Amino acid sequence: GGGSYPADAKVKGSFHPIKDATWNAGAPVPYRAICDVFEKIEATTKRLEIQEMLCNLFRSVIALTPDDLLATVYLACNSVAPGFENVELGIGEALLKKAIVQTTGTDLKFIQKSYVDLGDLGSVAMHYKGKQKSLMFSKPKKLMLKQVFQNFKTIANFSGGKSQDKKIGAIKKMLVDSMGPEPKYIIRGLQGKLRIGLAEQTVLVALAQAGTITTTACLDTRVGMGSDAYDALVAQNEINLKQAFSELPSLDRVVPAVLSEGLARINEVCQLCAGYPVKPMLAKPTTGVSEVLDRFEGLEFTCEFKYDGERGQVHLLEDGTIKVFSRNMEENTSKYPDIIAMLPKALKPGVSSCIMDSEVVAYDRELKKLMPFQSLSTRSKKDTKTEDIKIQVIMCAFDLLYLNGESLLKRPLGERRKLLLENFQEVENKFTFAVGNDATTTEEIEGFLEESIKGNCEGLMVKTLYKDATYEPSKRSLNWLKLKKDYLEGMGDTLDLVPIAAWLGKGKRTGRYGAYLCACYNPDEEEYQTVCKIGTGFSDENLETF
Ligand code: ATP
Repeated sequence: GGGSYPADAKVKGSFHPIKDATWNAGAPVPYRAICDVFEKIEATTKRLEIQEMLCNLFRSVIALTPDDLLATVYLACNSVAPGFENVELGIGEALLKKAIVQTTGTDLKFIQKSYVDLGDLGSVAMHYKGKQKSLMFSKPKKLMLKQVFQNFKTIANFSGGKSQDKKIGAIKKMLVDSMGPEPKYIIRGLQGKLRIGLAEQTVLVALAQAGTITTTACLDTRVGMGSDAYDALVAQNEINLKQAFSELPSLDRVVPAVLSEGLARINEVCQLCAGYPVKPMLAKPTTGVSEVLDRFEGLEFTCEFKYDGERGQVHLLEDGTIKVFSRNMEENTSKYPDIIAMLPKALKPGVSSCIMDSEVVAYDRELKKLMPFQSLSTRSKKDTKTEDIKIQVIMCAFDLLYLNGESLLKRPLGERRKLLLENFQEVENKFTFAVGNDATTTEEIEGFLEESIKGNCEGLMVKTLYKDATYEPSKRSLNWLKLKKDYLEGMGDTLDLVPIAAWLGKGKRTGRYGAYLCACYNPDEEEYQTVCKIGTGFSDENLETF
């Protein structure tokens, strides 16, 4: 594809996506193109500059080789698959050093030494590759971006016997052909740390800008458009793209839609769907009941127990498959075979697909009592076998985001909750609804808070019911407030700990210690055992004195 613009297609600004590109229309994008952008990004800290450089690269890719856009965006995000597929880069240093040793013929001890000096294995690889150049007789093959991406993905997926050898082999192949800054970004990319200060959000913004300016049909949409109109359009497109990606957090789905549908229509095709985790909605902390009442004055709201377990976003697909995703959208399905087995009993007739938001809490079935998070955390994380389960859990559903093929995100919580109660039913000891109470006065809320804590919960979640009550994926919204016992005066537990180490402060805290490592004496083992690092809650005066 690419290159189908009229010969006299005009562009605005000094950058020309075709003339300034280093490759031709329809040709594969060279890996060097993104490495050059990474080099420039590394040299600046200005976010707007970073966005622009990335935007320009994306524009050239869209204009010349749109088929490579997905791989380009993945490499910019330094990932190889949607987060929930749990395929991650993060190749160990030892393995990467081996690959560098074997490719450059440099002794490991030089590599080690220069690693200490440079502090970055990518720079070490670049240094020794650069030195080696004069020894080459045959010209190396030019690395292509899509091929590098596919190699990264293959490397991340290797497992089982001989996988170390296979990984080294694949890494060496790329290093042999790499030139200039390429070895640096191959190594850093494989480590899973680009270290150029590029965040996923910045990549999305750059993509929204690029997709607004350059489409496969138009080289520069800004030509003939007023700058106010353009600013409004790009702002809206950014919102559209972010919304699409939080409802359907898969570049595999979203990037092709940028090309085929355009950003104005992307939300029509990239929507919440069962099987893809949504970025969960988060809550704002509050310091007490009076803050809650201030914020929600005049609004209808509900108070729910804030359960102390693990977030479980439970998906039922049309084909009957059930999946569980965590707070960070990792797939937890194999951790909860008991939930998978139980869920069909919780469905009332007519439910064919759904996404429920819930908290999975450790539960003592004999005492019929919730157990604290500490119990749940002892449960094995993967491939749990039903017969080995020691820690029983109960699923406490508090929201319904999707039902029978329809997204409920735009409906107010009051309606979502009604649908939740109408379409699902309790399963003794295994599935229940979050305990809620439409308390409104300080006394009522405080009473309910106490009740929640007695029931082994962390406090309350207070949520608006009708006004400003849509489900906002990934947002830390003011529509959800958390009231934790720890935040309340006199309600927290106290611990007597000993500081055994401290970190030198940065920024405002330069010249003082900024954080402390705290420990507790264990008389049986006769040693101090670390408990936690503390970095907040100090006054300036405290820090000075310490
Ligand atoms: P956050 O998730 O807000 O970043 P965090 O990880 O420290 O902060 P908490 O402060 O404990 O989590 O509060 C949010 C979490 O509380 C939710 O992610 C969810 O797992 C849990 N939770 C328990 N009960 C409820 C409820 N009734 N409604 C919503 N969330 C609940």
